[in-house]
Formats: sequence, structure tokens, C-alpha cells
Amino acid sequence: MGVIVQKYGGTSVADLDRIRHVADRVIRTARQGHALVVIVSAMAGVTDGLIALARRVDPEPDKRELDALLATGEQTTAALLAMTLRARGVPAQSLLGFQVEVRTDFCYGNARIQDIGVERMRRLLDQGVIVVVAGFQGCDPEGNITTLGRGGSDTSAVAIAAALRADCCEIYTDVPGVFTADPNLVPRARKLERISYEEMLEMASIGAKVLQIRSVEFAMKYRVPVHVRSTFSDEEGTMVVAEENGMERVVVSAVTMSKTDARITLKNVPDRPGIAARIFTPVAEAGICVDMIIQNTRASGATDLTFTVPRADYRKALAIERQVAAEIGAEEVLGDESIAKVSVTGVGMRSHPGVAARMFATLAREGINILMISTSEIRISCVIEQKYAELAVQSLHSAFGLDAPA
Ligand code: ADP
Ligand code: ASP
Ligand code: MG
Repeated sequence: MGVIVQKYGGTSVADLDRIRHVADRVIRTARQGHALVVIVSAMAGVTDGLIALARRVDPEPDKRELDALLATGEQTTAALLAMTLRARGVPAQSLLGFQVEVRTDFCYGNARIQDIGVERMRRLLDQGVIVVVAGFQGCDPEGNITTLGRGGSDTSAVAIAAALRADCCEIYTDVPGVFTADPNLVPRARKLERISYEEMLEMASIGAKVLQIRSVEFAMKYRVPVHVRSTFSDEEGTMVVAEENGMERVVVSAVTMSKTDARITLKNVPDRPGIAARIFTPVAEAGICVDMIIQNTRASGATDLTFTVPRADYRKALAIERQVAAEIGAEEVLGDESIAKVSVTGVGMRSHPGVAARMFATLAREGINILMISTSEIRISCVIEQKYAELAVQSLHSAFGLDAPA
């Protein structure tokens, strides 16, 4: 019997009515003869609420204890859904991360799944029990609770689907699929019927939070077909699958935007070997991921160096660089949190010149200044002032011919 994994996000389980609605869908799938594992997120707003509560105790809460706290969000939903199913006479059991044996590394708050035990889930499935798993959580080799990073229930679902060799991993959310842009931002965005893992990975890494990046990495590595679809309707969603020959090779398939980065500039940095290492080593040692980097050489021979970091790490990175600047003799360190990154992506870009030029011309037409640029084989990203983010996404969406017919 084929196993299906279904994951329901926060808005899909936001209250008891919605949990009942999820139970209806789960029962329907089970009655079609599938063995079913259901992964749930915390109810909408609960994770944010728990983080705020922890910060009232300590602005930088202990990471192990924060994970112990955050995991309760998913624990609540898993128990409520299993209870709802059982109250309807349907055999179901909730399992927490450690009970499933979602084994992770020690990185609290952003742990990576290393291995998943399938015996307990298999035993329950063989007995005809619907397994309800609390997403977003795992446990480290010493038995401590860890969490997988924001949006991590997607990764729980895909990793469990891979471990169980499930036929499909269905991601139920509050939009009917993956769109050419965030449909809440661009009303004329179009739903994609299929998208390759590669393109989805790019989209996730540049701000399309509909799937967590690591979930796409898992799906790609283990070839798990992922179906992103709406909890609130029966319409077919988007299949995320391996790139196929027949796949439409549109030049640009999507436009994304993120407001999660900040930028730091070191001015008048001495230009000699080893300086970049002096600047970036301490940030790396602090566990901060640097994204874009640009270096401009001045006529004087000194350089200005600008890079972006996640906004959550901005203050820490700024303090580190002020220290470094003093040590290496840079003139000053400037920071800016009000930036946004807009990106266009598509596998067809590999063989089509002119995408960057069209992107820059579109932004220029709107009077939007480009602060930084980065590219990959199938993506171009520009950092701009945050106040122009929505306008930029909408005009790029039109300029690349992605708007749905009016
Ligand atoms: P869940 O709680 O179900 O995990 P999320 O809020 O994490 O849901 O992800 C769904 C949201 O992703 C949508 O409401 C939408 O605003 C956003 N999103 C961003 N980019 C896209 C895109 N290209 N296609 C679809 N949704 C997108
Ligand atoms: N509840 C967690 C979050 O809000 C995980 C998830 O929803 O996927 O990030
Ligand atoms: Mg999510």
C-alpha cells in the first residue's frame, strides 16, 4: 500500500474549525486506501507568540530552552488533530519529533535532520493507524529537543516522505500552489502547474517562503514528488519534480522578493592580501551567513566593501565589523536595514542573454536605484531600497510577461 505524506501549515490549522476541516481531508484520503502520515505546524501565530514570550524573559533566550518552548506549538496541534480523528472513530496517534526519531545535529534553532527512524511509524501504518507528526522538531544525539528553522515543518514532511519512500508529499497551505510571484503581493501572478526542484530551490532561497529551502533540498536529493496545494479547495496545485525534457523552458518563471537582509559597508579598507579574510572570518565564526558581497576599488587604491547578512544577525555583525575596522584601519562602518532583495529566476535564463539588461531597464523606468547585484546561472538578484520592493516585483512581473490575462 502506497504511503502519502500530507503537511498542513499554520493557517490550515489556525483554530479548531480548521483542524476539523483538516480531519475531513485526512479521513477522505485514508478512505481512498492510502497509508497516511500527517505532519502539522503550530497554529498560526503561535510560534511568533512563543518567541515574543521568551524575549520578555530574556532578549537573547537560551537556545536550548527556546527550542523546548517552540516545540510545544507543534505538539499542541498534533495532539488536537489526533484527538479530532479519534473522536470520529478513526484510529490516529500523535508522535513528537523524538518519538519518530527525527535525529538532528546540535544546532538549536536551525538544526539539520541527519536521520529518521521509520520503524514506529511503519508499525502504526501497518495497523491502519493514521500517524500525526509534530513538524519542525527533532532531537539531537543527546536527546535534547531541537527545531529546524522557521518554516521547518515543510522539511519534516519531505524528510519523512523520503524516509518512508512515500508516493507523494502533499504540502497544504493558504495559497493554491507555487505562483510566478507571491499571489498576496502580485494579484495577477499565475499558478505554475509544474516546477523543477532546481527552480524551486532558487525561488525558496530568494524569498518564496511557500516551501522552506531545506525541504526542497531533501526533495531533490531523494526525488520526492512534492505537491503544493490549498487546504481550502480541491483544485490541483503545483507539482515540484525533477526537470523533464518536455518542461516548458520559459526564460523567467518567477519573481520573488525578500525583506530579510541588511547591508553593511566598510569604507576605505586598505587593499592588501588577507584583508577580506580578516573581515569575513569573525562573522563566519559567529555563525552568521554572508550573502552578497561587492568590492569597489577607489582611485586611492583603497576599497569599499559591502555585504549583506540576515537582518536577525545585523546588530551582531555590525558590532563585529566595527571592531575589525578599527584593527585593520578602515575609515568607517555603515549599516542599512531598510533594503529589499528582488530576484528573477528561470532555467531558460541559461541560454537567453539579455535578462539582466531587461531587469535593470525595468527598475530604471520606475526610478528605482540598484544598490547591489548578484547572479547565478538561473537567477539575478538586485538589492534596492525597501520602500520600492512591492513596486519592483509588480513591474518585473509585467516586464517579463508573467501577468495572467486581465
Ligand atoms: P504555511 O503556514 O502553510 O507553511 P507559509 O506562510 O509558510 O504557509 O507559506 C505560504 C505563503 O508563501 C503564501 O501565503 C504566500 O504569501 C507566500 N509566497 C511567497 N512567494 C510565493 C510564491 N511564489 N507562490 C506561492 N506563495 C508564495
Ligand atoms: N511553526 C514553525 C514556524 O512558524 C514551523 C512551520 O510553521 O513550518 O516557523
Ligand atoms: Mg511555511
